Amino acid sequence: MAVSIDTLGKAIRHHMFVVATCRRCERQARFLASDLGGMYGHGRDPRSLPFRCSVCDMRDCRVTLMEPPFDRTPETIVWRPVKIRG
Ligand SMILES: [Zn+2]
Repeated sequence: MAVSIDTLGKAIRHHMFVVATCRRCERQARFLASDLGGMYGHGRDPRSLPFRCSVCDMRDCRVTLMEPPFDRTPETIVWRPVKIRG
């Protein structure tokens, strides 16, 4: 795809998923762009979001964008971001 996605708003328009991959253990988390946009705002660059691997407890994640249809393997988990009340 030739469109460069630099904000969550654009990713939402293309119904994309945001995929965070831990650089250490390769564990992946997939989020709906629309979920993230609701939390962080549509102008946010998805690559700047603070993803953290729950296994390694590291913030060293590679963020990529994926558009449907992608291979829906049984292991595919779409995570919902959890809002922490402060
Ligand atoms: Zn990890």
